[in-house]
Amino acid sequence: MRIEDEHKLDFADVLIRPKRSTLKSRKDVDLNRTYTFRHSQKAYKGIPIMAANMDGVGTIEIALALQKHGLFTCLVKTITVDDLRPHIENLDAEHFAISTGTNMQDFENLKTILEAYPKIQFICIDVANGYSEHFGHFVHKVRSTFPNHTIIAGNVVTADMTQELILRGADIVKVGIGPGSVCTTRIQTGVGYPQLSAIIECAEAAHGLGAHIISDGGCTCPGDVAKAFGGGADFVMLGGMFAGHDEGGGHIILEKRNTGLVDLQTNEPIYEEKSFVKFYGMSSKTAMEKNYGEVAEYRSSEGKTVKLPYRGQVNSTVLDILGGLRSTCTYVGARHLKELSRSTTFVRVARQFNQVFGNGKDS
Ligand code: 5GP
Repeated sequence: MRIEDEHKLDFADVLIRPKRSTLKSRKDVDLNRTYTFRHSQKAYKGIPIMAANMDGVGTIEIALALQKHGLFTCLVKTITVDDLRPHIENLDAEHFAISTGTNMQDFENLKTILEAYPKIQFICIDVANGYSEHFGHFVHKVRSTFPNHTIIAGNVVTADMTQELILRGADIVKVGIGPGSVCTTRIQTGVGYPQLSAIIECAEAAHGLGAHIISDGGCTCPGDVAKAFGGGADFVMLGGMFAGHDEGGGHIILEKRNTGLVDLQTNEPIYEEKSFVKFYGMSSKTAMEKNYGEVAEYRSSEGKTVKLPYRGQVNSTVLDILGGLRSTCTYVGARHLKELSRSTTFVRVARQFNQVFGNGKDS
């Protein structure tokens, strides 16, 4: 047994220190980034925020809505050739990825989709535990079969495995084990790594090899997205923050609740109506039953199911996140998102914000 003594950080452990800035307005901030990927040599230009390949988030409708702003979507693994057919013309190839697991069937599905639609450029190879040897072999096999596609692979949280996946053929490594909003891995297994430190360490390893990383999971607000970029993430992937919207396709549940209060003028009880959408982790019981018919006996669920307040169209959430990020850039004097990491000094804090009236946002 060993103990690592160095203090590792989560988003909530830091704030970004403001700096003198010549920027007059948030309008002056450019959030677009341009990357060329190490193996595929494909160029990418856009705002590097991604919707996660989760039910209710990684849908074609979300991809169509996000690409209007230059954002990216990793589509869910269950998308088929037939699902794509009516939309493939309208999907911008620079802004979505096909996701896959690592078994034979997954590989066959991937081949079928990529043969049917040669315009698709991005492949996201996604497993909960990117440390298995089988995963490394699979990444290598996909790289050999598709030398010109841009490959995303994960998830890992350490520099050594980031390098290993890049050398196996990944252009972009997805970083994050256990930080997700509907993830219970840390509770079920005790395994994980504080997300901000994972980003800092993996980004340094990837950038040294001319590759890129995605910070995946754990962002709860636009400030966390800014901290992820500040820590060196090239892309930031969001699940919970993009869930609960019309384009996610979930059922909207209307809940009518007796508040226990009474209107003193009419003596009538006061009811409250709220709409919710179900959201669940992709390793939750809900997801396994929906996508595979059952929870296999040898594994336990490592995700949970929650009810989120229904949030309407995703457009307003996108604008909220981009507005927050532009504001961060003006606070530290970064005219382009590219400069945000260089301009960031994190200060360690014991308290992130004032919660006297709750921790919510302006409604
Ligand atoms: P969020 O942005 O909601 O905090 O995190 C999204 C990320 O959580 C996803 O991209 C994925 O990496 C991770 N995730 C999604 N479902 C599950 C799950 O059921 N279990 C675990 N351990 N992680 C999950």
